[in-house]
Amino acid sequence: MRINTMIDEYRRLLRLAERDKKMIKDKLTKLDRRRTMTLQKRIHEFHDEVFAEVDCLKCGNCCREVGPRIIEPDIVRIAKDQNMKKNTYIAHTMVSDEDGDWVFKDCPPCPYLGENNFCHIYDVRPRACKDYPHTKDRDIHKRLKRLAIDTQYCPAAYLIVNKIIEEFKP
Ligand code: SF4
Ligand code: SF4
Repeated sequence: MRINTMIDEYRRLLRLAERDKKMIKDKLTKLDRRRTMTLQKRIHEFHDEVFAEVDCLKCGNCCREVGPRIIEPDIVRIAKDQNMKKNTYIAHTMVSDEDGDWVFKDCPPCPYLGENNFCHIYDVRPRACKDYPHTKDRDIHKRLKRLAIDTQYCPAAYLIVNKIIEEFKP
């Protein structure tokens, strides 16, 4: 049986994120103009604080609701892991989306999402999965509008954004 559950606490956070959607968008849009290295450094620190507490195996919502954009090195790595030639792997598992990016067929939910939110290709998973919600990215302080959207899917992103708003008071 495939059981992909999200604990009640994370559901509650996503409900709060939905309630706060407009406020988050407005405040991060204002803050997006600052783009300082202090902002970047603090977001990275908030990421570490939040992910020290959040357990992705008790969530799995990005795998269920978002789905990764896949780049060439991801395809090469996953195809090798699956003992397939790159083009065969692409033909079997991938399509290009409206922006011309590679994505998994019929995703979301991701076809590699397994029981209890385990990823069947965890060790070779796409870079986008590893980095989500991108709050450790070098340019995160220039991508706050995207982060506002991710609060609607990722409880950790919502907690990080709350810390940003509380400290920077945009
Ligand atoms: S490849 Fe793994 S980590 Fe990435 S979306 Fe699929 S199940 Fe989640
Ligand atoms: S990255 Fe966010 S949405 Fe994905 S499993 Fe972890 S907490 Fe959930």
